[in-house]
Amino acid sequence: MASDKGPSTADATLSRRIEPWEFEAFFNPGELRKEACLLYEVKWGRSHKTWRYSGKNTTKHVEINFIEKFTSERHFSPPVSCSITWFLSWSPCWECARAVREFLSQHPAVTLVIYVARLFHHMDQQNRHGLRDLINSGVTIQIMRLSEYEHCWRNFVNYPPGEEGHWPRYPLLWTKLYALELHCIILSLPPCLTISRRCQNQLTFFRLTPQNCHYQMIPPHILLATELVQLPVTWR
Ligand SMILES: [Zn+2]
Repeated sequence: MASDKGPSTADATLSRRIEPWEFEAFFNPGELRKEACLLYEVKWGRSHKTWRYSGKNTTKHVEINFIEKFTSERHFSPPVSCSITWFLSWSPCWECARAVREFLSQHPAVTLVIYVARLFHHMDQQNRHGLRDLINSGVTIQIMRLSEYEHCWRNFVNYPPGEEGHWPRYPLLWTKLYALELHCIILSLPPCLTISRRCQNQLTFFRLTPQNCHYQMIPPHILLATELVQLPVTWR
């Protein structure tokens, strides 16, 4: 039975899988680990084959490492369409966002979808700008939901035998708060989410302080999804 086994030893990606503790340390939305991890999938043309790899920060950010590796190993002539999916523990900083846009402008046959576990220094205006520019240039950016955690666990993690279905279930509220903040970024609104970390007990605190502009611009269902916001009576 599949549930009795870990990833198949015939799986060519086995050596590229990360350990369960790494996945949980990097992708826990409440952990705020400094280093970043990138899990990515590449599909070429109409092929059904998916290439999977993982990468971490070195002296450079994971996004830059990806671009350098990808452009040095692949030859783009004749051009074949290529779809890339990233699962990133932190959203790209503004410098990486700029590098990604350059990479995509040089390789128009490449499409990129990015799932992020957390928003990197999301109060920083340059980072907000960087994400917005990426989205405006055609990149899809979404916060990782339970389905993405499950997908990554099954395809990128060297889970122990019998634990195929034991991907980490983080509080849904964290995903919703990050999704709300991503909306603020897309709509050029000021931040409404504050994240702080108490060193003594290693706890992460999320505080939501929506302003009038948030009530006016953000779709009500996204605000209400957090269950922390009550719409003003004047809301239409
Ligand atoms: Zn970066």
